[in-house]
Amino acid sequence: MELANPIVVKGLLARHGFHFSKSLGQNFLVDSSVCPQMAELSGTDDAVGVLEIGPGIGVLTVELARLFPKVVAMELDQRLFPVLKETLHGFDAVHVVEGDALKADLSELIAREFDGPVVVCANLPYYITSPLLMRLLESRLNITAITAMVQKEAGERICAEPGTRKAGAISLAVHYYAQPQQLFDVPASSFLPRPKVDSCVIRMDVRKKPPIEVKDEKLLFRVIRAAFAQRRKMLRGALSAGLGIAKQDLVGAFQASGVLETKRAEQLTLAEFSALADAIGR
Ligand code: SAM
Repeated sequence: MELANPIVVKGLLARHGFHFSKSLGQNFLVDSSVCPQMAELSGTDDAVGVLEIGPGIGVLTVELARLFPKVVAMELDQRLFPVLKETLHGFDAVHVVEGDALKADLSELIAREFDGPVVVCANLPYYITSPLLMRLLESRLNITAITAMVQKEAGERICAEPGTRKAGAISLAVHYYAQPQQLFDVPASSFLPRPKVDSCVIRMDVRKKPPIEVKDEKLLFRVIRAAFAQRRKMLRGALSAGLGIAKQDLVGAFQASGVLETKRAEQLTLAEFSALADAIGR
């Protein structure tokens, strides 16, 4: 069955009495060039399989199954299970599991389903992009790379180099755990129903260890979040407000770290944030 063809998809969904759920971020890919390319670019040499989040009707799943020895696809919407049963018929390497990727025990799932490192590949429901990516990266699962379709603006933000104008708290966090890159753009017309904005595919190669050393990771991310919560303000004001520390009590930390208190969040590299967090923690 040609799963990337809008006429086929409409017919299939009508037969199953399926209606799209906006709140679950259901925009299905109906562009035959996207999924093969995404699957092709998602692998790493050592991956024994792939975890897909949100298979929908299985358009990406079948492409992954052609390339990987095993595919585990986690879907939240039970209404899609009869559809997937039909579209994935004969794809023995695929195991569809029911679950919420934001809540499920992914560490247990990966250990149970795979006997080695895996990659993640997903056309993500946009409402869970940041929390899910952070969950996948922070929990230090046995994942070597994450390839994801995200809203274009979110992809640009995630991949933006720390210390540059487009950087946000998410860029710093992602760069701490991984090396992100934008792979290719996907227009809104490639989806059914058509979303309001364009998308892009990004890939994050998970680092074996962070690029900088910091004494207290939690404090580092509190400092980053506080700095970006008021990104137009100078650091001294933003950090004082966000961390609940009086400005004069931060002077020593700025001096010890060598970071100018008049800088703004988007001007700081990960190493500078780390020096600042270490000095604040002292
Ligand atoms: N992979 C399909 C495609 O490319 O056409 C569907 C992508 S659609 C953007 C997102 C999918 O994620 C939907 O099937 C939706 O039901 C599912 N989903 C939404 N929230 C989820 C969650 N928290 N955990 C797992 N799947 C979820």
